[in-house]
Amino acid sequence: MKYSNQFKVVSGKKVRLKDIDSAFKGKHENHKEAAEEIEEDRKKLRKLQELLYAHGQCSLLICLQGMDTGGKDGTIDHILGAMNPQGCRVVGFKQPSAEELAHDFLWRIHQAAPPRGQVAIFNRSHYEDVLVVRVHNLVPHAVWSQRYDLINAFEQGLVAHDTHILKFYLHISKEEQLKRFKERLDDATKQWKISEADYKERYFWDDYVAAYEDALSRCSTEVAPWFVIPADHKWFRNFAIGQIVVEHLEGLNMKRPKPNVDLEHIRREYHAAKEA
Ligand code: AMP
Ligand code: MG
Repeated sequence: MKYSNQFKVVSGKKVRLKDIDSAFKGKHENHKEAAEEIEEDRKKLRKLQELLYAHGQCSLLICLQGMDTGGKDGTIDHILGAMNPQGCRVVGFKQPSAEELAHDFLWRIHQAAPPRGQVAIFNRSHYEDVLVVRVHNLVPHAVWSQRYDLINAFEQGLVAHDTHILKFYLHISKEEQLKRFKERLDDATKQWKISEADYKERYFWDDYVAAYEDALSRCSTEVAPWFVIPADHKWFRNFAIGQIVVEHLEGLNMKRPKPNVDLEHIRREYHAAKEA
């Protein structure tokens, strides 16, 4: 079965994260075995992104969400590293500024949506407004609980503008997170990433799981699906996401525009003498 089907959250279905194996590896045992296929997909990604740019009619928005250490940065490195930076943009969403908070929660998101021909990857997204905001009661229940419908309507609007939306939840276990925190602690090049706040968020793990399950269940739509990606194995996470993005772009039937000059004329006029 294709990973796009296997990991897609069926619209309207209630997600239970504990029933999804975060350590799933599929047909390969390890990175080495999968490496060739992963590399092939990266080459395809490069060509497809160039085609998206040339085609110029639609855009791609990839949203990445997950618990701390889930692998958002690594995924960006993998997917975007395969593409031409001129046609892509990464946008990270942190705590909103005073100006952003004075607007509706989608204001800053809409500005970052990709224009035709471009790819945007969101490192966190509008979903934070029903995740961290819900877990920490940053706004009243009456406010965040409306946001699922607002998000669905907003995403539909982007889709109507030919933006293709793929949303990935990077699914790691609580044990895997602790292991990754420990790796940071033991690796001098990663220690700068450590914050005590990240450890403290672990106390809220179950609340985050509940918030994620609602977001995934209520906002996975036919036009803007969520995928729950098993992410305990970094190579598998990259493999699955790469494959899903490639498959989606291949399905778009994109074409390079026809040249709007007379090629024969150009050949005759500017090359004939040289070639003669
Ligand atoms: P990082 O991605 O690790 O640099 O951290 C960014 C932080 O900003 C995370 O703790 C997010 O939960 C937080 N953040 C992102 N969006 C929002 C939001 N809309 N409201 C509150 N906090 C947010
Ligand atoms: Mg962080």
